[in-house]
Amino acid sequence: MSCVVHWFRNDLRVSDNPALLAAIAEAKARSLPLLPVLVWDPAQADASRWLPQRIGPHRQAWLAGTVAALDAELRARGSRLLVLHGAPEVVLPELMSATEAVALHSEDIPAPEEADQAKAIARAAKRLEASCTWSCTWHWQSTMLAPDDLPFSQRDLPAVFTTFRQHVEQAGIAPRTPLPAPQALPPVPELPAPHKGQPLPVAVPSPDARSSFPFHQPAFAAGERGAQAHLAQYFARRLPHSYKATRNGLSGTDFSSKLSPWLATGALSAAQAIAAIRAFEAEHGANDGSYWLWFELLWREHFRLLHLKHGSALYRARGLSQLPTPPHDEAAFRCWCEGRTGEPLVDAGMRELAATGWLSNRLRQVVASYLIHDLACDWRAGAAWFEACLIDFDVHSNQGNWLYVSGRGTDPRGGRRFNPDKQTREHDPDGAYRRLWGTA
Ligand SMILES: Cc1cc2nc3c(=O)[nH]c(=O)nc-3n(C[C@H](O)[C@H](O)[C@H](O)COP(=O)(O)OP(=O)(O)OC[C@H]3O[C@@H](n4cnc5c(N)ncnc54)[C@H](O)[C@@H]3O)c2cc1C
Repeated sequence: MSCVVHWFRNDLRVSDNPALLAAIAEAKARSLPLLPVLVWDPAQADASRWLPQRIGPHRQAWLAGTVAALDAELRARGSRLLVLHGAPEVVLPELMSATEAVALHSEDIPAPEEADQAKAIARAAKRLEASCTWSCTWHWQSTMLAPDDLPFSQRDLPAVFTTFRQHVEQAGIAPRTPLPAPQALPPVPELPAPHKGQPLPVAVPSPDARSSFPFHQPAFAAGERGAQAHLAQYFARRLPHSYKATRNGLSGTDFSSKLSPWLATGALSAAQAIAAIRAFEAEHGANDGSYWLWFELLWREHFRLLHLKHGSALYRARGLSQLPTPPHDEAAFRCWCEGRTGEPLVDAGMRELAATGWLSNRLRQVVASYLIHDLACDWRAGAAWFEACLIDFDVHSNQGNWLYVSGRGTDPRGGRRFNPDKQTREHDPDGAYRRLWGTA
């Protein structure tokens, strides 16, 4: 027995997946089976420094839905997904040895934990080389723009977002063209008994009718078909044209694109998202609304590229700054998580987040600022709570935004304090949002 392995990470789709296509090509060239694998690390359910577990029920449920959809896509193409439980750097080398695999293809992720996993797997490959040989190939595929196309080296990446955006726009860099889904996949190999796989743990949070991302409804289905259906209806209603005017909304399904939960799991690639926006503009015309979607996707891009440049420095208490370690008040942090700070707009936002796994961008900024600048808590605790709750948790965007609000990242203004009274007057003047979440 021998095979090629594709390890799915944050790229849970079959279309526009260069790593998967490379694995298929290698399996075909060597006339070998292909084994698509996903690894569930039970350590996700363990306590972190800040919280009793790193993944909460909404994110778990969204992930489980995405994984089921991916398995269905693979089965429709003559394959299937093997789900293994354990630390990737342990279970993948074991699997590679047991199946006498010759090659592993996977997504390149620049965040420190994920990069360490990749290094440990590559080390295991070297260690085992005497008994069996397998190669590891990591594919960069999570950005719209290929890093090699950028008009600056990784080292010279502009720290300030506006400078980065201007350079990219002036150089006229074209996003990567999305690749089609494969028609069929090579067969899956016979697996030895200890490697038959296990189902992903399932969570079934109660649906909340107030949710702005009601993923229990078919219109918000997880997986790449759900993503494509969502894009189609978003464009059919020409909502990109009004995006700039509505994007600071607090509640409802249409005020922003709602692409992030699909982007976070990789059910939708950023290249697919921008290609769809460009196609919409070609058909219906571009305006400041459709431009602003590109603008926001560039923020996502910048936070990923900052990880390539700064790596684990982004995870230090001081981030990229020289500021001292922030203070922390555990009791205040608990009140914040539970929506019991006494500040009505903040509490409403935190209740929505806990009840639905979703929060608007405006309120993410307001509640993050309140935790850091009003409650004098450590920004890393807030980032950990978002990691556990958000169905669109994306390590790069989450870390980048928390650093930004705390003034420890790349904000030229050195941190952002959002005045809750002013934010309430501007964004919830009639109290509708606070009433919805019972804090008015
Ligand atoms: C403290 C804090 C933590 C955050 N954590 C995350 C996170 O874990 N995952 C995540 O995807 N986004 C995060 N964001 C960014 C932003 O709030 C969400 O991307 C956005 O609200 C998702 O909704 P949408 O898809 O409707 O976005 P839209 O407003 O429709 O924007 C379109 C896309 O642009 C990107 N985008 C928009 N705003 C930002 C931003 N500020 N930073 C990076 N990308 C952006 C997203 O991919 C988004 O899907 C965070 C923001 C803050 C202030």
